[in-house]
Amino acid sequence: MGKYDYDLFVIGAGSGGVRAGRLAALSGAKVGLAEEHRVGGTCVIRGCVPKKFMVYASEFSNQAAVAEGYGWSASQATFDWKRFLEAKDREIARLSGIYVTNLSNAGAEIVHAKARLADAHTVELEGKGTVTADKILIATGGRPWKPDDFPGAEHIITSEEAFHLPELPKRVLVAGGGYIAVEFAGIFAGLGVDTTLVYRGPNILRGFDDDVRTHVAEEMKKRGVKIVLGAQHAAVEKTATGYLNRMTSGGDIETDLVMFATGRRPYVDGLGLEAAGVRLNEAGAIAVDKFSKTSVDNIWAVGDVTDRINLTPVAIREGAAFAQTEFYGNPTTFDHDMVASAVFSQPPVGAVGLSEAEARHLHGKVDIYLSRFRPMKTTFYGGDERCLIKLVVDAASQKILGCHVVGPDSPEIIQMAAVALKMGVTKPQWDATCAVHPTLAEELVTMRDKYVPQGAAA
Ligand code: NDP
Repeated sequence: MGKYDYDLFVIGAGSGGVRAGRLAALSGAKVGLAEEHRVGGTCVIRGCVPKKFMVYASEFSNQAAVAEGYGWSASQATFDWKRFLEAKDREIARLSGIYVTNLSNAGAEIVHAKARLADAHTVELEGKGTVTADKILIATGGRPWKPDDFPGAEHIITSEEAFHLPELPKRVLVAGGGYIAVEFAGIFAGLGVDTTLVYRGPNILRGFDDDVRTHVAEEMKKRGVKIVLGAQHAAVEKTATGYLNRMTSGGDIETDLVMFATGRRPYVDGLGLEAAGVRLNEAGAIAVDKFSKTSVDNIWAVGDVTDRINLTPVAIREGAAFAQTEFYGNPTTFDHDMVASAVFSQPPVGAVGLSEAEARHLHGKVDIYLSRFRPMKTTFYGGDERCLIKLVVDAASQKILGCHVVGPDSPEIIQMAAVALKMGVTKPQWDATCAVHPTLAEELVTMRDKYVPQGAAA
């Protein structure tokens, strides 16, 4: 028996913690993990995975019209929320079980308890005693944040509750303009809920390319989402028939459900960070160096609790890099540059690299290639859904700095574009790639003329 109970103790069995813990255990290290909820974390239990099932479920409503255009006579389809929830929960339980099995097969021990650091090597497990560890990894993720500074804020739900609604509302208001708000607005609208998205700024999806933001908003409106911009809540009042959303700018909106998706915060509550000497940064996230090491020499942190790029694959790569460095003698850092992301809005967005505005700011002169078009599947049945494809190219070096796609399968398309951009592809190299026909993505490699916005001088 060594000096400590464990070589590594991981707090939080989500994407980052599980990957790090499993890899460390496979190296022969004695590993324990504490999880206060279910193994799998935000992504599997109350994030990416159940959200994607909800997106799939909601997309079928649109498919009936498409099928009719292609010659099908669809009978009236109905949706059963409870049946969907049961199927979703079964699948989430299966996936969580796989995580548990993989950890156990690797030799890691799981303790179901809330963990708190007593000092740099000691972890208190609520109701389950105390353990000591040589190394500690904090991977507790984030929690939804919602404002509580207006009357009636207690009536608001977040995405956490949206995954378990006892029944679908008839009318919903979703507040926020980020990933979660836009995704859930699409889900609710697709499931037939009268949906209003309220955002405080001038356009949704701040941080994404401006053409993408405008395009997504326009396409969402076509699918029935009402988008109210420049609006914030003054109060939420319970009425006999639902909730009255009183806005600071006027214009009350009555709905049956009010969901806020106004960001997530690192989950550091009750972790005992001070007792161990682990420092937070100004944003309230655990401060780490490029090896994910905290201010304490034997404590590391990965994933959303460090608030670097809050995406599952990033947490996984940070966790894997930590395990490589500390348990395989192979110092590894994760490069946070050129990480692609997708918004599973309807239509979805795939993006990698810089927006046009960021590129102009950082690189000066840029060439823009942009195409908006109706995909052939849509034109056939007379639909009006449009796609957007945009490349941002450094004018001097011709290196592609950003690639942005809005349309069906854009999250799948952007994965491959990310490979090329990560390798530093130039526009001539990109153009040398022959198109795959007939696809939506072929437009990516056939754009030859620089884009000049209407009304702008060439
Ligand atoms: P985001 O940070 O993406 O968006 C938060 C939104 O809430 C912004 O529009 C913000 O406005 C608004 N907001 C913040 N504070 C207030 C306030 N007090 N009143 C009104 N509006 C407010 O957070 P999300 O909750 O959407 O998602 C959290 C993170 O989870 C994302 O950043 C992403 O990293 C991750 N995620 C990724 C997904 C994916 O990869 N597909 C899916 C879901 C989540 P403003 O823009 O003005 O600041």
